[in-house]
Formats: sequence, C-alpha cells, structure tokens
Amino acid sequence: MSTASTVEAPLPGTIPEYWQAFSRDYADARLRFIAQAQSVGASVHSYTHPDKTTPDGQPLRIDVARLGPADATRTLLLISGTHGLEGAAGSAAQIGWLATGSARALPADTNVVLIHAINPYGWSHQTRTTENNVDLNRNFVDHSKPYPPNDAYDLLHPHVVPAQWTQAGLAAATAAVDAFRKEHGADATFNATASGQYKYPQGLVYGGEQREWSNLTLETILREHLAQSQKVALIDWHTGIGEYGEPFFLCFNEEGSEEQQQAASWWGRERVLDQRPHGLARPNYQGLVFRGVEQFLPGRQVAGAVVEFGTRGRQVGEALRLDQWLRFKSSQAADATRDDILRHDLIDAFVPYASGWRQSVLSHGIHITEQALQGLASW
Ligand SMILES: [Zn+2]
Repeated sequence: MSTASTVEAPLPGTIPEYWQAFSRDYADARLRFIAQAQSVGASVHSYTHPDKTTPDGQPLRIDVARLGPADATRTLLLISGTHGLEGAAGSAAQIGWLATGSARALPADTNVVLIHAINPYGWSHQTRTTENNVDLNRNFVDHSKPYPPNDAYDLLHPHVVPAQWTQAGLAAATAAVDAFRKEHGADATFNATASGQYKYPQGLVYGGEQREWSNLTLETILREHLAQSQKVALIDWHTGIGEYGEPFFLCFNEEGSEEQQQAASWWGRERVLDQRPHGLARPNYQGLVFRGVEQFLPGRQVAGAVVEFGTRGRQVGEALRLDQWLRFKSSQAADATRDDILRHDLIDAFVPYASGWRQSVLSHGIHITEQALQGLASW
C-alpha cells in the first residue's frame, strides 16, 4: 500500500498543477490537504474513526481546516468525499483553492471551513459507500420514523447487481432494467435507483438503519466550528453527473426561496435552476447531507449545492453496480487480478485518470469556490 509521500505544497497564489492537487489515494490526500491548509494559516482538526481503519491498518480520519476567525458570522463550508472515492475530485478542488491568493485574504467577518473526506472509509477502501455500505447522501433521515418506501427498487433489486461480472451477467441485468424502463419510463427508473432505499443493506443507494459515524461527526464538526455562523454557503463536491469534466449543480434549497436565489446569483441561474441530472427528472432524493447541514444549523440560513463533475454520463450506472458487485459478490471466484482491474475501472468511472478531466475539475473547482465566497460576502 501507500508509503509516506513527500508533500510539496504549491506556491501560494498559483493554480497548482493537477498532479499537485489530485492525490494518489486517501492517505496521500490527507497529507497534502493538511500541508496546504497549514501553509495558509488554517487551523486543522482531525476526527478519528473509533474502530475502522484503512486497508493497511492506519487510522481513518476526517480532517477539518478552518481559515479565518472562529466567530465569523459568514461561513463558506466545503465538503469532500461524501461518496468515498469521489473524494479525490473534491479534495483536489479544496487543495487547489487553498493554494490561491484568496485563501490568504478572506472578506471581513467570513471564515472557510473545509471538511476533507467526510466518508474516509469509502475513499480509503475505494468504494462510494460507508463501512456499512450506506450511501451517506441518503443517511440524513429521521431513523426513528418509518422509512420512505421505494416500491420500484423492490422490483429491481434482485436484478440490478449480476451474480457474475461477465458480459452475459451484465446483459441480463441490463435487460431487467430495460424492461422496467419500458413499462414505467426513464424518469421512474432513475428515481428507483437514485432516490434511496432503506430495505436492502447489500443494495444500491442504501440509506442505512441508523446514523452513520460520518453523519454524527458532521453534526459535531458543525457545532464546534460554525457556532457563530448565521449565513452559510455550502458546496458538497461530487462526481458522476454532467458533461465530461464540467460542473453540474444540484441546489437543494426550497423552490423560490431566498437561499435558492442566492445560489443562483453566485453561479448563474441557468446552471442552478431547473436542472435535470442525466437529462431526466430530478429524483426524490432522501436523506441528503444538505438536509443534515440545515438540520444541524437550526435558525441559520444555508444556501448552496451539490456540485458534480461529469464523467461517463449515464454509463456511471454500471459503475454503481460494479461497486456493489466488488463488495459483495466478487469473492465467490477469488480472482484478485480481475478484481484489481475492475476496481481501477470503478475509480476511473468517478475520478478519471485523464489529465484533461483533472485540469478541468481543478480550474472549475477553484472558480466555483471563488464565486461562492464572493457571493457570500455580499449576501
Ligand atoms: Zn456523489
């Protein structure tokens, strides 16, 4: 596994090379993030998982960097790694922005809180889900109440992840989903496999049966670092939706609200309003991190978005199944080389290795962060 990296922070005030902002793996990313944060005077706080580790037995940590006064009433909150391995892109956006001059010259009464690898198990084990196979971005529901049903997923569940990861196995899975789509339509099919489900711990978009450690820790972080914040600009970095290397905004503020108008003014109405992921109706997403942030900051105003970077378009659906297959079904045949090849395909589906993609993510990521910071200052 990884050995300790030599971390060399890029010169402040410059856009780093993509290979300085993107990391080799979770452990390397932590070191780069902390070094970059400390180089611009941020305070760094780490939250260690009580019992899970990296594959090579190292502690799993969520790292938080706070830049600017602790008692600021305006906070730019930047989260990476909600979906585990997608964190490589969000981390690069965080590290890239920290390297810019504006990290050293924040507007008055404003701080920036960067949460690095909110789901460190997922990233270090190269999966999108948590230690309990929970989709963290579906986990912020009230677990004391009956869970929202997903009858359509009930029908699809036996078919979505093939027993064998072969062309024949995949063709059978695709045929089952296609048959469902033909009967119920593309929007309903997307909703079934994306909105969330709370019945199948070994299924897609499983929201869990209790609050995950990452969920509990997010509440602790916000309590400790956003105590005085009244206005919060939120970016939760993701990948997998949108055009290749281009940002795609999913704003979860209420339709017509002041917060939605703010987000639209920062990033552009045409990018923020009425967005259709993969060209389809937006799923009825349950249990989003966005809702958690709102809930943990009662009485405060939270505006912002999930910001995705596109990779393979609708083809990512197959990668979502591959993630589950590698986790629960690959050991049946125990072919380590095959699994290694497939694992790299999974990583490449969400964080392409291509330099052009990474350069685009880095430069968009810095710009989008900058827009939110300037917008927050005049909110
Ligand atoms: Zn995601």
